[in-house]
Amino acid sequence: MTQPIQALNILGTSATPAPTATPAANPAEGRVHEVVIVGSGPAGYTAAIYTARAEMKPIVIAGALDAGGALMTTTDVENFPGFPAGIQGPELMAAMQEQAERFGAEIVYDDAVDLQLEGDVKTITLDDGTVYRARTVILSTGSAYKELGVSGEKELSGKGVSWCATCDGFFFKDQDIVVVGGGDSAVEEATFLTRFGKTVTLVHRRGELRASKIMARRAEADPKLSFAWNSEIVSINGTDKVESVTLRDTETGVERELATGAVFEAIGHLPRTDLLRGKLELDDQGYIVCQGRSTYTSVPGVFAAGDVVDHTYRQAITAAGSGCQAALDAERWLADQDAAASTSNAPAAAEGVVA
Ligand code: NAP
Repeated sequence: MTQPIQALNILGTSATPAPTATPAANPAEGRVHEVVIVGSGPAGYTAAIYTARAEMKPIVIAGALDAGGALMTTTDVENFPGFPAGIQGPELMAAMQEQAERFGAEIVYDDAVDLQLEGDVKTITLDDGTVYRARTVILSTGSAYKELGVSGEKELSGKGVSWCATCDGFFFKDQDIVVVGGGDSAVEEATFLTRFGKTVTLVHRRGELRASKIMARRAEADPKLSFAWNSEIVSINGTDKVESVTLRDTETGVERELATGAVFEAIGHLPRTDLLRGKLELDDQGYIVCQGRSTYTSVPGVFAAGDVVDHTYRQAITAAGSGCQAALDAERWLADQDAAASTSNAPAAAEGVVA
């Protein structure tokens, strides 16, 4: 983990800090940063690149286990401009991180566990107890995988139930595999899993895919993929590992059992805003509400970008774009605050009043 700010040796004369009577419990608490960015997907890293280039010395709270966000579990990214041959998701995220670090962003591999957002100085507490203080916060916490909520799902999670084909697909070599969902994620996961599976069946609750046309056409033409249309999973069955799923036909209600060694779920995402409940305005689905087309949240000095805001587009490129907007909004907001403070101080200074 990148270490937070070191304790300052205020004498500046020795490599060994002078002992103090009451050393700070946490050295990071001694400094107020211009900006802390919570989240490290395309939105967070783009905000980091822009704020670092604006010399705001951003701290990026990247997450303990999931730094880089959803693209870390994606394979080919074919629609991010600038990569005509496509690029692997993790490679793209590594490049974004490197670009942010090149301009001085500091990446911290831990999770934020508490955020206090009101007032001029916001605090961000990490799992290891470190507390960062900042004048502005950019929230880019992304989204988490949705769960089906059917019986057997929790019990067999990690024993055949998975949300990540690139992480777990290899374990189901030469087995029957089920993927559930009808969007781009499900199609991408299913296509990837044809490398390993004896069979791959895409289970979708409707009769047509929601996925983009190019991906849907490719999937439907893939001889290794079969489809269970108008079907929903009622239960995932097995004792120590997944053995089958029970499917219900959404039109006739008829149930049947389909043997499988694995169930990969790709049914969309929910915004990661649990930490933010009651702290700023969220909509009825839990997404952060921003003002108009800006990234301003309901709390002054707090900005939001990426999937945690976006119901509609949810693309790497739109997340990156909104990360840029959040950085510019934060930079301009700070400049306005500083200008207002210097204006209100000016007459006092002229009159020789000491604050
Ligand atoms: P999505 O587009 O929201 O699709 C979710 C799918 O899951 C839908 O087909 C939905 O069915 C189904 N679903 C939802 N809840 C369900 C439930 N309880 N039981 C069964 N099925 C359920 O989510 P996504 O595929 O994760 O994609 C999210 C965004 O990321 C999209 O904008 C997508 O374009 C983008 N993305 C892009 C790429 C790429 O370009 N390479 C790859 C992945 C994702 P209905 O269709 O009936 O609603």
